[in-house]
Amino acid sequence: MHDIYALQLGRTHIVYSPLHHFTARVNKEALLALQRNSSGIHGGPLQDLANRIRRPAEYPSRPNSKTPSPSKIVIMPTRRCNMRCVYCNFVTDQAHSSTLDPIQACHFIDYALQNLIHNKSDFLHIHFFGGEPFLHHSIVDQIVHYARQNCIRNSVKLRLEVTTNGKFDRQYAQFVGNVFDTVVVSYDGSRAFQNANRPNPDGSGSFKQVSTTLQVLSETSTELCVRLCATDQSVHALPDLARQITDAYNIDKLNIEPLTANSVANSAGLRPPDPYAHSFKPLSALITKRINMVSKLSMGLLTSDKSAGLPVRSVKIH
Ligand code: SF4
Repeated sequence: MHDIYALQLGRTHIVYSPLHHFTARVNKEALLALQRNSSGIHGGPLQDLANRIRRPAEYPSRPNSKTPSPSKIVIMPTRRCNMRCVYCNFVTDQAHSSTLDPIQACHFIDYALQNLIHNKSDFLHIHFFGGEPFLHHSIVDQIVHYARQNCIRNSVKLRLEVTTNGKFDRQYAQFVGNVFDTVVVSYDGSRAFQNANRPNPDGSGSFKQVSTTLQVLSETSTELCVRLCATDQSVHALPDLARQITDAYNIDKLNIEPLTANSVANSAGLRPPDPYAHSFKPLSALITKRINMVSKLSMGLLTSDKSAGLPVRSVKIH
């Protein structure tokens, strides 16, 4: 069964199947029985679950027969990066050195716009991702300029977002803050964690430059989101890190993401935080004082309200 997932939750297990339309909480014995042979289950408390698993998977039908029209385009100008985060298994010195041809990206924007207009939609969303997208900022600049002009010409609203490591100078940070609707900066929360986890290629710390970028972006109209990677070493400090970030910068969102286990992070001695042992406890101290909480598992999204001058408005853990 390729669409049935099991997640341990304390002593029980959540079993979830999007294509068989069920979610169930079972004990270990029941999980093993389902894994071993669901078709051999007849009668008993697992009967209903076994019946559901035996039914053919139901794939969603296409919502309509319109021409496909992507309203969101993610553009990756390069896989290269000017940082060497100790947990990154995406970028290496050998990372593919080719860059995106901006003309190709512009053709795709034309295609998306044509289909959006054909389907009477009026909204296009472009997100730049990497590697570090601004490493080749002329590519980003050209695509932004092209998309902006063509959207205006066709009365299509354009939303521009970027995920970046924030390593650029003040002037460019100002430009980014004024042009992009949302800027997501990957930043690990303090001088110590940023310098240790997210160094420059020569081993020096990146805190000073990224902190300056965050300060400049704080003063622009962009929606500013900080994306913090929580490890087993930083998870205990999350309330302090959240406080430091919201005190130092005028952010709209703080997105706390647990480290994804990989061999590079492992060699650096970093592991994902245990979501059950750690995430709720340290965050809840902060949450009860400053924010409302909607909780699921181990990733946090803190939202502050710039306009109201409030430090943090809500937290969503998912
Ligand atoms: S900034 Fe992002 S892409 Fe670059 S090394 Fe760090 S995690 Fe990897």
